[in-house]
Amino acid sequence: MKLLQAKLARYDAPQKAKALGVYPYFREIESDQDTEVIINGKKVLMFGSNSYLGLTNHPKIKEAAIAAIKKYGTGCAGSRFLNGTLDIHVELEKRLARFVGKEEAIIYSTGFQVNLGVISCLTGREDYIIWDELDHASIIEGRRLSFSTQLKFKHNDMASLEKVLKSCPEDKVKLIVVDGVFSMEGDVANLPEIVALAKKYNAAIYVDEAHGIGVFGRQGRGTCDHFGVAQDVDLIMGTFSKSFASLGGFVATDSITANYLRHNSRSYIFSASITPASTAAVSAALDIMESEPERIEHLWEMTHYALDGFRNMGCEIGNTSTPIIPLFIRDNNKTFRITRELFDEGVFVNPVVSPAVPSDSTLIRFSLMATHTKEQLDFALDKIQKCFKRYDLLK
Ligand code: PMP
Repeated sequence: MKLLQAKLARYDAPQKAKALGVYPYFREIESDQDTEVIINGKKVLMFGSNSYLGLTNHPKIKEAAIAAIKKYGTGCAGSRFLNGTLDIHVELEKRLARFVGKEEAIIYSTGFQVNLGVISCLTGREDYIIWDELDHASIIEGRRLSFSTQLKFKHNDMASLEKVLKSCPEDKVKLIVVDGVFSMEGDVANLPEIVALAKKYNAAIYVDEAHGIGVFGRQGRGTCDHFGVAQDVDLIMGTFSKSFASLGGFVATDSITANYLRHNSRSYIFSASITPASTAAVSAALDIMESEPERIEHLWEMTHYALDGFRNMGCEIGNTSTPIIPLFIRDNNKTFRITRELFDEGVFVNPVVSPAVPSDSTLIRFSLMATHTKEQLDFALDKIQKCFKRYDLLK
C-alpha cells in the first residue's frame, strides 16, 4: 500500500459506525424532499432539512426552473467574469440587493464559496478578522485563506468582542464576522450590540444570513432587517440552498466593495456561474416569499410549538429561539444510536458530533419547515420523548 493510502486507512470511524449499524450519513432519499421523504422504500418524517419555507417542491418554482432550462440550457459553461453572465443573473442580483437593503449584490455558485471568496479577499496582511467561535465552517475556511491577523471572541459574548476590538490598532482595518442565526445551536447574533461596538471601534461587519433569510425580518429579509441594522452592516451574505430552495449564494454590499469583489474574489472569478434553473428557481422563490407571508407565520407557529414541546418534556435545547433546535446529548455514541433509533421510528434528524462541535456538546439538530403540520410535530415529539427517556436525557 502506498504511504498515502496507508495513512488514510487508519481513519476507520465510519467503518466502526457501520459495523454497529448506527452510521447516519449519506442516507439515500428516493423521493422529492418535503416534510415526508422515502428512504429504503420507507416513509419518514423529515426534521433535518434547511428548507425552512418548504419550497423545494413548489410547482411555480419547478415551472420557473424548467422554463429557464428551455430558454438558456442546462449550464453556463464559464465564470461570470467571462462568458457565464446571463441577464437573469443580473436581474436577480438587483432584486437581492433591494431585498436585503444594499446597493449591489453578487451571486456565487454556492454559499460556501461566498464565505470563502469574500472573507479571504477583503482583508490583507495589515488587517484584522474578528470572528465568533461558533461561526460556520465556510467562514473559518475563508478567514484561513486570508493573510490577516485573526482573533476569536467567545460565542455571542459582547464583553469578549469588545476586549478583542480594544486590542487591535486603531488605524487598521477590522472586519467582524458572525452568523445571523448560528447554524448548529440556532441562537441569534446580538447584532444591535455588535453594531454599537463596530461604530465605537471603527470596524466593518459581515453577517452570514444563511439561516436568517426566509425566517427573520419583513418577508424573510433576515436578521439584519429584523433588528433594523441592515444599513449598519457592511456585507450581508445569503445562500440559495436553504429557504430559497435552490443552489448558490450571494453577498450584498456597497458599490465600492462590490466592484472590488467582482474583480478580485477568486471563488467568484475562477468558478462557473450558477445554472439557469437554479437562478430562475431563486427568483420564483423570492416571488413567493414576497407574496405569501403566511408561510413564515406558519413556520414560526410550528417553531414555538416545538420549542414549548421540547422545554415541557425537559429536553436540553440551549439558547435557541429559531427553527433550528439543538437537542443536546453530549456523547458521540449516544447521538449516533439515538439518530438511528429515531430513524427506525420514522423520524429523520441530523446528528452533530465532533469535530463539528466539541465532543461534550454533541447534539441532534431538529429543524422545522413551513410545511410541517402539528400532527407531524406531535408524532416526532412523542417519539423523541420516549427515546430520550430511555437514555435518561430528560430533566
Ligand atoms: N453559511 C452557513 C451558516 C451555513 O449553514 C451554510 C450551509 N450549511 C453555508 C454558509 C454554505 O452554504 P451553501 O450550502 O450554499 O454552500
